Amino acid sequence: MADGKQDIVIVGGGIIGCTTAYYLTKHPSFDPSRHSITLFEATRIGGGASGKAGGLLAQWAYPASIVPLSFDLHSQLAEAHDGVRQWGYRRINCGKLTAKDQKLSTSEAATSWTQLATWFPLGKRKYIKEENRDLPAKDFPDDLDWFNAKSIKSYEDISTTNATAQVNPLQFTMTMARLAEEGGVKVVLGSVDAIGYAPDDQQSPREQYVANEKAGGFIAGNAAREKRVQSVSYIDKATSESRSIPATIVVIAAGPWTPVLLPSAPISSLRAHSVTIRPTKPVSAYCLFTEIPVAPEDADGDGAEQGDPAVPREIAKVMCPEIYSRPNNEVYVCGSGDNVVPLPANTDAVEVSRQDCQNIIDAVASISDELGNGVVTSRRACYLPVMNVGGSGGPLIGETGVPGLLLAAGHSCWGIHNAPATGKLISEIIFDGEATSANIRSLDPRLVV
Ligand SMILES: Cc1cc2nc3c(=O)[nH]c(=O)nc-3n(C[C@H](O)[C@H](O)[C@H](O)COP(=O)(O)OP(=O)(O)OC[C@H]3O[C@@H](n4cnc5c(N)ncnc54)[C@H](O)[C@@H]3O)c2cc1C
Repeated sequence: MADGKQDIVIVGGGIIGCTTAYYLTKHPSFDPSRHSITLFEATRIGGGASGKAGGLLAQWAYPASIVPLSFDLHSQLAEAHDGVRQWGYRRINCGKLTAKDQKLSTSEAATSWTQLATWFPLGKRKYIKEENRDLPAKDFPDDLDWFNAKSIKSYEDISTTNATAQVNPLQFTMTMARLAEEGGVKVVLGSVDAIGYAPDDQQSPREQYVANEKAGGFIAGNAAREKRVQSVSYIDKATSESRSIPATIVVIAAGPWTPVLLPSAPISSLRAHSVTIRPTKPVSAYCLFTEIPVAPEDADGDGAEQGDPAVPREIAKVMCPEIYSRPNNEVYVCGSGDNVVPLPANTDAVEVSRQDCQNIIDAVASISDELGNGVVTSRRACYLPVMNVGGSGGPLIGETGVPGLLLAAGHSCWGIHNAPATGKLISEIIFDGEATSANIRSLDPRLVV
């Protein structure tokens, strides 16, 4: 990075943008007299998936190049900033639970279950080796006493507290934003609508030649030069006025909205619903991947089968809610993803289907009286940023090929886990010129953008 004044802009106040802002202020080269950092958030900090995710951290997440670093950084952040109290950080057991109760097998339920045919898995579940599958219900842990014993079919450990932890994602994101502000970051509520570019004066004649060739060999002078970042313009949330500020570096951390600013970014979106429930009594610390058969009964009473007239052929027969108990006597439950409603303009415009939330509530209520008789405290939906390319599956972290334009996006179902590593690595790329804490060549945006 050049020695002169730098105006660094981060677009997006989700967990990735806020954690990036935090790590920029912690980098040894950060000097507030030379470096201005502005974070733009269109609606509210953590208003997207970052405030509505489960919050599981797992050593078996992906991609392997950053997962161990991020797991350790989460632990260090919790130590440094009292994460136990500030954002509910704790180590936690993780298991797979298969359970079934006849309450779900009613014909009235059949209509709503047809919707499940449009659902997609979020991709977080760890698949267990075939030989370890389906341990009998007698191996059910004693402290999982908040499930109805007669509903349990099987339980198996996925990982213990050595390899899994959790955070409350909204509290974590908001704390990162606050700490970043305390460290000198300016947080602006406004929607960035354009990134301004200028010809790159620092290009060598060779680079200009290459740019000229790329452009077909017939563009001369300045126009042949590669562009570089110069400014961002935004609509101020409070006044609706259009404004612009200078920028030498722009980090796009806009989650599923990233392609709005950079159409070549191969990121799409998947909606997912979740609920929170205050159970009837405090429950033990577990993250559970469940399988709950939900197919309705058919006429012969042996459960729905393909070909039964009352049952649509494509009906999903198993619901797989993820159930996370949290320290403040809250249980978070999320369902699968759907493509029913395309990504809206912003986080405030996300459509929440009451029926999808009710399906999640009914499913967990059928296997746990503590949850079924508890108080539903929120019903929500959000959009997961999904990578459209194969290979590592993202995220994309680093330079784009346009001088000054960086990406920190496409974190799919592991953005909460991978946020600290992403933020730290982006701070290294900006201040040191390269990522030093991990080898992230496979996550280089220039491979796909
Ligand atoms: C149901 C569910 C459960 C999940 N559970 C887990 C989990 O247990 N563990 C885990 O690691 N991950 C989990 N995830 C994944 C995780 O939530 C995401 O990967 C992560 O939140 C992505 O963060 P982000 O900051 O990139 O995007 P977002 O949270 O979407 O944030 C992007 C922000 O950018 C803002 N923005 C967009 N465009 C602009 C613009 N032009 N100008 C200004 N601001 C803009 C938006 O308003 C938004 O606030 C889960 C996801 C879902 C959907």
